[in-house]
Amino acid sequence: MITSKLPDVGTTIFTIMSKMALDHNAVNLSQGYPDFQPPGPLLEFFRERLLNGHNQYPPMHGIAPLREQIAKKAARHYDALIDEDKEITITSGATEAIFVAVQATVHAGDEVIVFDPAFDCYAPAVALAGGITRHIPLAAPDFKIDFQRLADTITPRTRLIIVNSPHNPCGSVLSLEEVVQFEQLVEKHDVLILSDEVYEHMVFDGSRHHSFLASETLRRRTFVVSSFGKTYHATGWKVGYCIAPPLLTSEFRKVHQFVTFTTNTPTQWAIADFMEAHPEHETSLSNFYQEKRDRFNLLMTGHGFEMTPSAGTYFQLADYSALANIPDTVFAEQLTVDYGVAVIPISVFSHLPEENQRIIRFCFAKEDPTLALAADRLAAVRTGSAPRRR
Ligand code: GLN
Repeated sequence: MITSKLPDVGTTIFTIMSKMALDHNAVNLSQGYPDFQPPGPLLEFFRERLLNGHNQYPPMHGIAPLREQIAKKAARHYDALIDEDKEITITSGATEAIFVAVQATVHAGDEVIVFDPAFDCYAPAVALAGGITRHIPLAAPDFKIDFQRLADTITPRTRLIIVNSPHNPCGSVLSLEEVVQFEQLVEKHDVLILSDEVYEHMVFDGSRHHSFLASETLRRRTFVVSSFGKTYHATGWKVGYCIAPPLLTSEFRKVHQFVTFTTNTPTQWAIADFMEAHPEHETSLSNFYQEKRDRFNLLMTGHGFEMTPSAGTYFQLADYSALANIPDTVFAEQLTVDYGVAVIPISVFSHLPEENQRIIRFCFAKEDPTLALAADRLAAVRTGSAPRRR
């Protein structure tokens, strides 16, 4: 009756774990979203725009004031001169932008390189375009890119390389030296890049996010994708954007107009208003999340999880090999059902997961009491005391 176009794909791990959290009344540190509200003034702007007539279709590529704010932000943070009319498109979340960029560039039989663990929407977008995903593993504990292996994986069919920094789920951040290696690579090979930078404003311990927008060489062949959901604690608004050179943007918009046509109007106005009034919000975010990371890691001390502090994103990996010798999918289920804390197993982001890898991901974008309650419950894993009954 129907032949699946995605035979190997089930429901996303985020939907599965969030449902399991709900079903078992677990503290949800699985799917990445804050358990606190967006900034008050942003909500006020939204209310004003909603009540004052901004409720019909916006322009297909997004309202001009928001695109202007994005261009200003790119200049402020990355010294990049972006033409908001020809190079910026507002999308319904970064996920839409990623899907559209892939559909716009990948032809049947083309190859796309991703680094595993890779965020789960990359490979299905490639499959739907008729492309072939080539997976390059990032090895624990530092999850660095093997550039020799990357060069060896590129073939004349390679159309796109998908890069993600700060990295979900690993929490690693590309260094300037690594960005330079990408520059050298694109000078040698005729490939495009999709740079997923949705956690661009969450980089810790004094280091910086090196956007592909900051490099003239890379910018010429890159779709840079970001999201307002992460930056403004509003993941449910589903507003993101793509910055790419005019030729790439023109192809991007051809697809975008038939996927969602456009993105909801009042949130675009509210975000533009807020960005104009509070440009300091972006710069405060790294400290805000670094404090949460440190608080959570401190609370988790002595519980048997090995945690190397995350360098960016609002995720923290934990090696649980001292606690259990079972696959991460099984351990994640146990934590949720028996101990009341939902987490994400990271093997699901890898094409060929390492058999003996024992790593899970926590989301620490949570209020302090939420983090404290989770850590308290997780203490019981080691002592084996009072696990909840199934
Ligand atoms: N980006 C979020 C995460 O990594 C979830 C996104 C989603 O649910 N699709 O947890």
